[in-house]
This record gives sequence, C-alpha cells and structure tokens, in this order.
Amino acid sequence: MAGVFMGRTRLAGKIDWRAKRRNPGVREQLIGWTSRDFWPFKGHAKKRVMIDVLRRARPSLTDEQLDRYSRHIVLREVGGVGQAKLLAARVLVIGAGGLGSPLILYLAAAGVGTIGVADFDEVSLSNLQRQIAHRTGDVGRLKTDSARDTVRGINPDVNVIAHAERLTAANAASLIADYDIVADGSDNFATRFLINDACYFGGRTLVSAAVTEFDGQLATYKPYQANLPCYRCLFPEPPPPETAPNCSETGVLGAVAGVMGTLQAVEVLKEILAAGDTMAGRLLIYDALSAEFRTVKVPRDPACRLCGEKPTILDLSTHESAAGPVCLTGA
Ligand SMILES: [Zn+2]
Repeated sequence: MAGVFMGRTRLAGKIDWRAKRRNPGVREQLIGWTSRDFWPFKGHAKKRVMIDVLRRARPSLTDEQLDRYSRHIVLREVGGVGQAKLLAARVLVIGAGGLGSPLILYLAAAGVGTIGVADFDEVSLSNLQRQIAHRTGDVGRLKTDSARDTVRGINPDVNVIAHAERLTAANAASLIADYDIVADGSDNFATRFLINDACYFGGRTLVSAAVTEFDGQLATYKPYQANLPCYRCLFPEPPPPETAPNCSETGVLGAVAGVMGTLQAVEVLKEILAAGDTMAGRLLIYDALSAEFRTVKVPRDPACRLCGEKPTILDLSTHESAAGPVCLTGA
C-alpha cells in the first residue's frame, strides 16, 4: 500500500499541474482530500488517516459505499466526488452479449447507478463461451433478465433497467434520451448506424466497440464537439449483406470480446469522470494474435452524410426501411 502513495507525496502542498492538465476538474475532486493527508503517516496511523479522509470524501456516500468503493475513492481521478458521479450516472448498454457482458459487469462493480440494458434476445448455450453475464441455468431466459440478476449479485447499489425490445427508428431517440452515455456492443451494422445517428441527434456520447475472430476495435464518438468524428465518418455505409459473414458463422475467441468490452467499460467510466484523455477522434485496434494495440487518429469527414458540411441524413427516417441485420461481430 505504501508504494501506491509514494509518487503523490512529492506533489503535496503544490498545485498539481500535471493532474490539472489531464483533467481541468481535478482540483474540485481533490477538495476534502489530498496526498498531503496521507503523509507522513505510516502503518496503522496511515490507515486511520485514510479512513478519516474517506469519511470526508463523501458527499452522499454511506459507510458501506465508502468501504465498497474505497479503492476508487483513493484514486486522484475519482475521489468521493467522482464516485458520487458514477452513482448518479445513467449508461445505456446496447447488447448483453460478448461485449456487453464484461461491460455491464464492470460498470455494475464500479457503482454506475443506473444501467439500461437493451437486448431482445434469449440466452443460448453457444453464447456462454463469451457472454459472461449469463450462466448455464439462464439458457432460454431473456438476456436482460439474466444480466439484471447477475448485476444484483454483484452490487445492489445498481438499478438495471431492462429494455427487451429491438432498437428501431421509432424507439431509438426516446430510449437514448433517458441516458447520459450510450455504449454500443451490438452485433450488426443496421443497429450500429441507427445508434450512431440517434446519439448524434440526441447529443449523446457514444462509446463503441466491435470484435470479430481475434480482432477488436474501440472508439468514442462525440460529433457534437467541434471537429470530432461520428461513426459514419469512419464507416460511411454498411457493407452489402452478401459480403458480410453470417452472424452464426462468425467465430470469436471469447476472451477477445472480454478485452474489448472491458476497454469499453474503462472508456465509459473515464467519460463519466472526465478523467484522462478521451478516445474521441481516435480508433484503437487490437490484434490478439500478434498481441498488439494500435491507435490511429480519426478526423471528422467534411463529406459525412450525418455530421459533415452538407448533411443529407436529417433524421432517423433513413432507418425505417432498413433491411435485416448484417452481422458485424461474433459478439
Ligand atoms: Zn460523421
């Protein structure tokens, strides 16, 4: 434990410009506790001071929450204020599959207070190789019900709202409007384009991940901010159905979906906390076989049909006649 705080004591008594650069709101989060509080205490005395600091870190946390989230609260980028933000946050997860499972579980463990789960599918035996929010006994149940039960077992602080319905042009806007951030773990292009367009019109941050076989991609979209791209800036149109693999034929190493869903959870938590560098304007590419991560910059496309200079998509009506799902992933 001592090592955890060694790097911080050097900053005691000064404005932490390094942290301030990373996150303009960090001073606000540090009010009530700083590394100074822990220094120069050691052993039992340090623990006593830490407990005291954690108590002051609340604004609204119960003793049990201070204990449950103590490893968050001692983080400079979280603190009591950040944990309260997580508890107040509302995140919509689209798809309770290979990406959605680790995503939902980590958001729940982190204390994200309200998690909407949109999935109309039932758990099947072949899902369990990667969809870790579900158990063998859940086969045949709605994924939203199964995921909700699993979350209850992890963290009773979290309210799961089940949306066991297909996302359509008619319901997407009102569904998304109820949430602060949307995380896309869906398994087909039609849904991905619909979510992107609905988030653009609704002004919602979209954290999007995809996985297939041994490869993963991750990006955050905030096209409501100047010069940042939307999903269509990267992928203008869905591929024709005949070139996309059939959903049930696409393979995926389950743990690769776990990596990408977990990275997605990290980015959602960072967006809520305004911590670190956003993934907006960047695309992260994971190649599991070569064990390599790459990040490429992605600018806004001025010719984008949605967020470009002369947009031709002005509402969600383009999705009303959408054909059946085109499979993207083995999620
Ligand atoms: Zn765009």
